[in-house]
Amino acid sequence: MTAVSTLMRRGWCPGVRRPMATGDGLLVRLHPLGGRLSVDQARLVADAARKHGNGHLDITGRGNLQIRGVRDETYPALLALLEREGLVELEGDGPNRLTVTSPLAGIDPLDRFDTFVLARAIEDKAHAIDGLSAKFVVAVDGGGSMPLDAIGADIHLLPVNESNMIAFGVPSSDGLQWIGATALARVPEAVADILSGYARMKKAGRTEARRLRDLERDLVRELADAAALEPTSPLCVRPPAPRAGILHAKGGKAFLLALPFGRCGSAQLEQAAAWSERFGMGEVRLSFTRGILLPGLAESHLVTFLDEARRPGFITEAQDPRLSLLACPGKPDCASALTPAPVNALRIASACGPLLSQGATLHVSGCRKGCAHPSQADLTLVGRDDGRYDVIPNGSTQDATCLHLSIDNLMTRLLPLNTLDDLRCAFAESAR
Ligand code: SF4
Repeated sequence: MTAVSTLMRRGWCPGVRRPMATGDGLLVRLHPLGGRLSVDQARLVADAARKHGNGHLDITGRGNLQIRGVRDETYPALLALLEREGLVELEGDGPNRLTVTSPLAGIDPLDRFDTFVLARAIEDKAHAIDGLSAKFVVAVDGGGSMPLDAIGADIHLLPVNESNMIAFGVPSSDGLQWIGATALARVPEAVADILSGYARMKKAGRTEARRLRDLERDLVRELADAAALEPTSPLCVRPPAPRAGILHAKGGKAFLLALPFGRCGSAQLEQAAAWSERFGMGEVRLSFTRGILLPGLAESHLVTFLDEARRPGFITEAQDPRLSLLACPGKPDCASALTPAPVNALRIASACGPLLSQGATLHVSGCRKGCAHPSQADLTLVGRDDGRYDVIPNGSTQDATCLHLSIDNLMTRLLPLNTLDDLRCAFAESAR
C-alpha cells in the first residue's frame, strides 16, 4: 500500500493532508481562512490543478476549494507545493477549518464587527479541541448583506440588534434556535466552552449526536448555561445572500462572480486572479455561495471589468436562472454518485425556465448525501441506482418520498408548470 493509499478513506471530510478517492481520482480540498487567496496563490493553485489533477476545481458551500482528479503519483508533489505555500490545514482528525465567514468579511459596511478577526480568534482558541468531527463548523455572521443562515453550521453567531452582544444559534427543524448571547470579546471563549463541553459529553457516552446541531435540546441548554450565555430573543430573518453581481463594500465595489454548480476550471480561477490584479486589490475570495468575490474594484474600472466578465463561464447577473439550479458533481466524478447530476440538472432546467426565473430552487443530487445543498429546495431530486430520481417537493435529500421518476417523466411534468403553486401541486403524490 502506498503512502497515499493509506490516507484515502471514503466518507472523510477531505483536506490537503486527507485526500478523498472519488470517481475522477483524488479530491484535495483547500480551506484558506476566510476563503482568501492572494492572486499569486490563486494562480499557483490553478496551475497545480492542471499539473497534478484534471484541471477541474469546485468551490464548496463553505467557501473551500477542491482540486479534482489528482493522481496517486502526483499527490506527493502537490502536497509539498501546497505546504510550501502555507495552504495546508493543521494536523489532526478535527475540522480542517472551524469557521466560515461571508466573503465580504471586513469590508461589508452593514456588518457590526469584523468577522474575519473574530473567525481567526475562534480558530486560535477552539480549533485544537479534541473530539470534534471534521465537519464541525461555526458560522461567523456580522449581520451584513450576506447572511450565513443557509449553511447549517453547528453554531451560528450573529450580532443582537443595537448592542455589543453576539447571539448563538443552533439549527433546528424550525430554523435557527437562539440559545443565548454573550459580549463580542467573550465569544471565542464561549465557543470553546461549548465545543469542549460537547466533546466531553460525547466521550462520556451522554449523546450519540455526531454534530452539535443534532444534540438533544436539554444538552444544548446545559452547554449554553456552562458557557454563561445570557438569554436572548429571536433575531430577524434577513433575505438570502446575493449570489452574483455588484455589492457595496468598503474600499471600492466588490463583485461576486457565480459559477454554474460551483464548478471552476483552472482557466477561470486564473482569469479571476487576473481581473483582481488589474481592477481590484489583488485578492480573490471564495464564497459560500459557490462563487468568487473580487474585492476593492475601482469605480473607474467597473465598465471595462463588466464587459470582460460577461463572457461564457461566469454568471454575473443575480437574476440568471442557472443560480436557482443546484447540483453536485455526480457521475462519473463522484464514486458514490448514482446519476450524472449536473448533466441531468441542465436538462431538467430546460423544461422549467419560467419556474427558475421566478426563483424556484431545484436541487439535483447524485445520491442522498446532498453535498451541494444540505437544506430544503422547492424541488429536490435524489439519484437512485435504477437511474431514476426520488422526487421531494419542498424538502431536502434527507426527506422521505414515495415518488420515483425518470428524467423523461420529470420533464413531461415540469414543462407545463408556470408558477411555484403549480410546482407544489405537480408532485402531490410524493407525500402519500
Ligand atoms: S451528493 Fe453528489 S457529490 Fe455528494 S456523495 Fe452523493 S453523488 Fe457524490
